[in-house]
Amino acid sequence: MLDLTYELPKPKVISGAKHDWELVIGLEVHAQVSSNAKLFSGASTQFGAEPNSNVAFVDSAMPGMLPVINEYCIEQAVRTGLGLKAQINLNSAFDRKNYFYPDLPQGYQISQLYHPIVGEGEVLVELGNGLARNVRIERIHMEQDAGKSIHDMDPNMSFVDLNRVGVCLMEIVSRPDIRGPEEAAAFVGKLRQIMRYLGTCDGNMQNGNMRADVNVSICRPGQYEKYQETQDFSHLGTRCEIKNMNSMRFIQQAIEVEARRQIAIVEAGGKVDQETRLYDVEKGETRSMRSKEEAHDYRYFPDPDLLPLEIEQEWVDQIAATLPELPDAKKLRFISDFGLSDYDASVLTADVESAAYFEAVAEGRSGKLAANWVINELFGRLKADDKDISNCPVPPAQLGGIIELISADTISGKIAKDLFEIVYTEGGDPAQIVEDRGMKQVTDTGAIEAALDQIIADNPAQVEKAKVNPKLAGWFVGQVMKATGGKANPKAVNQLVAQKLGE
Ligand code: ADP
Ligand code: MG
Repeated sequence: MLDLTYELPKPKVISGAKHDWELVIGLEVHAQVSSNAKLFSGASTQFGAEPNSNVAFVDSAMPGMLPVINEYCIEQAVRTGLGLKAQINLNSAFDRKNYFYPDLPQGYQISQLYHPIVGEGEVLVELGNGLARNVRIERIHMEQDAGKSIHDMDPNMSFVDLNRVGVCLMEIVSRPDIRGPEEAAAFVGKLRQIMRYLGTCDGNMQNGNMRADVNVSICRPGQYEKYQETQDFSHLGTRCEIKNMNSMRFIQQAIEVEARRQIAIVEAGGKVDQETRLYDVEKGETRSMRSKEEAHDYRYFPDPDLLPLEIEQEWVDQIAATLPELPDAKKLRFISDFGLSDYDASVLTADVESAAYFEAVAEGRSGKLAANWVINELFGRLKADDKDISNCPVPPAQLGGIIELISADTISGKIAKDLFEIVYTEGGDPAQIVEDRGMKQVTDTGAIEAALDQIIADNPAQVEKAKVNPKLAGWFVGQVMKATGGKANPKAVNQLVAQKLGE
């Protein structure tokens, strides 16, 4: 198996009034587990349901109700951990994190502070142009989501929707290994991609199925390397946490804005307070939400309603055996098996459906041609139509058929585009369409020669010019193509034009 070598991206540097500063970023990503039922109840997790229609008694914290763990959610967390090359902890446990929210009926959130189900892992974050960084994962723990308070439906009242209460979330915590806004977005994108491959989170950020808390600090050049050597956080600046970001664009904006705020404070001789902040999209600024709370503020303690969670290595192995091929491996395979560029392989492995489509087109045909057609023609056409691969009107076998016709020189590249448009809009077997509509390439040099002779006879002045300036030969090629309705074999035309003008 071939391996790719990458260069490390440079950290983002922001120049303050006095010094240069580097960024240090760590992310806590909340990913909603794909599961039909909640973590501790059988209530449905369906998005967009009638408010308060998916609420079991235990979700609404009725007296005497007890949580029952959903094995499938555990399996999904394990699967995610395996996909992030992480340590799976056979023994984990649930804790209560106590706090009041109107949309948290229990008055606590069941989470895993002390013994998370997944330990250390790693994610390769690629930035294109041969740049990539391995970002370390510190842990993944499972927890319940809270409900939703609604303040904009009535001037005098607030409403609460408990449908989301108890839905299973995974909190994926990175080490502070991320060094710039683009890297942060790429990290979230890579997690999303991996989880979508695994089927453990649908990664729909608009629906709030993936949200990130972004921790940002600044340091002088050289400090981060000291942290790396010692893993001692005192070499780094004080971090602020920006809560609940659910857009890649805003994550990047917020990081930059927050870093500049910290730089201004420190350069003015002040100190950054460790706190939780919110990003105001309209104003383009972060603002304080609360000072940073510590674990003891929440009076964490082991949840007495739930036994410690013990899973067996055998079960973990079984899950591992069913993991699909993941993006990094698939990309490498596409590069080595189909001769694709790094860039094309990345585009084609962005999601499982595109990758499967490409493979079906490329199998037994020219990989490069297939990549070209899928990326440039098909994706372009789908985008113009506001469609994606899931509702693509051209089955892979048909696009494959077009590629075969090109490879066999039966049709020219230009005609292939017309053919593609017919197949896209009307459907049908490409070979049959070519046959029925007389789209075959003219390789018969006699016919091409006749057309060329006519053009030469009609344009003596052009011929004289072209004899002095061979670059003008292209004009004759174009004329022949026009005269033959684009069906002349370009190779044959080029040869004939060169030959005739050389005479
Ligand atoms: P908390 O519960 O206080 O948010 P966590 O351990 O869950 O703490 O998460 C801390 C997050 O902050 C991690 O993603 C970590 O990488 C990040 N982090 C820690 N120190 C720094 C720092 N100096 N600068 C930026 N991020 C940091
Ligand atoms: Mg946190």
